[in-house]
Amino acid sequence: MKKQPTKKKKGQRVLVISAHPDDTEFGCGGTLARWAQEGAEVFYCICTSGEKGTDDPHIPCHALAPIREKEQRAAARMIGAREVVFLRKPDGDLAYSLDFRGDLVRVIRQFRPHTLFTHDPANRSFDVQYIFHSDHRVVGELAFDAVYPSALNHNFYPAHLAEGLSPHAVSEIYFFASAEPDTWIDIEPTLHLKLRALRCHASQIKEPKMMEEMVRTWFGVWGREKGFAYAERFRRLQIFQNPGERMKKLREILKHAPDTKEAPRNTQK
Ligand SMILES: [Zn+2]
Repeated sequence: MKKQPTKKKKGQRVLVISAHPDDTEFGCGGTLARWAQEGAEVFYCICTSGEKGTDDPHIPCHALAPIREKEQRAAARMIGAREVVFLRKPDGDLAYSLDFRGDLVRVIRQFRPHTLFTHDPANRSFDVQYIFHSDHRVVGELAFDAVYPSALNHNFYPAHLAEGLSPHAVSEIYFFASAEPDTWIDIEPTLHLKLRALRCHASQIKEPKMMEEMVRTWFGVWGREKGFAYAERFRRLQIFQNPGERMKKLREILKHAPDTKEAPRNTQK
């Protein structure tokens, strides 16, 4: 008999902020599907509509945008997400701005997630062109800055208060496609949903069989790192809310700092 998912994520609100339609399913689709089965409420914020994602000169951007949004909505349904929001920023041309950060703060204050998933802005190895797309770098950095300190401090974007949105503290961030993962999630029970959701992005995935083989290989390798058949891996960052917790974390970091006791006091010659 198939094992029933537990309800250990019941009521936990989860928001994913990603640059393009399909980033979420590649990055964390198996985990989100699993958490949704376990009772989490999953919301998507997609910053662009991926309207430049074609090699075909006969498909204009304005025609591709609604196709990709439709594909993304279908994929999100497959994952078990409740809602998808598109910010409709220009695909491929994302740039850091305080207005853009404010848009992400608004989404965080609306959906009030405990956990946020996004691209890892600390990635700078530039060894795979897809992962290091400039939009991914920009969105990861903006999402991080939107969580802290903007979303939780009433002095940032005070106009949101008039919209009925109060400050919100996110508790943790899971960065996907990270070069320095520290958290592995077993996705064997939901790999089939990740694959089905990816197939929804038909305008992007011309050879679904090849995609499936790639996903099985890639997430299989990551799974075997920790004894799973398949896993998604993340860099997890806990956002400390009270000064006591922050101090504890600081002590932990300092414990691993190089010993400076023996360093010369005066390095001038
Ligand atoms: Zn992308």
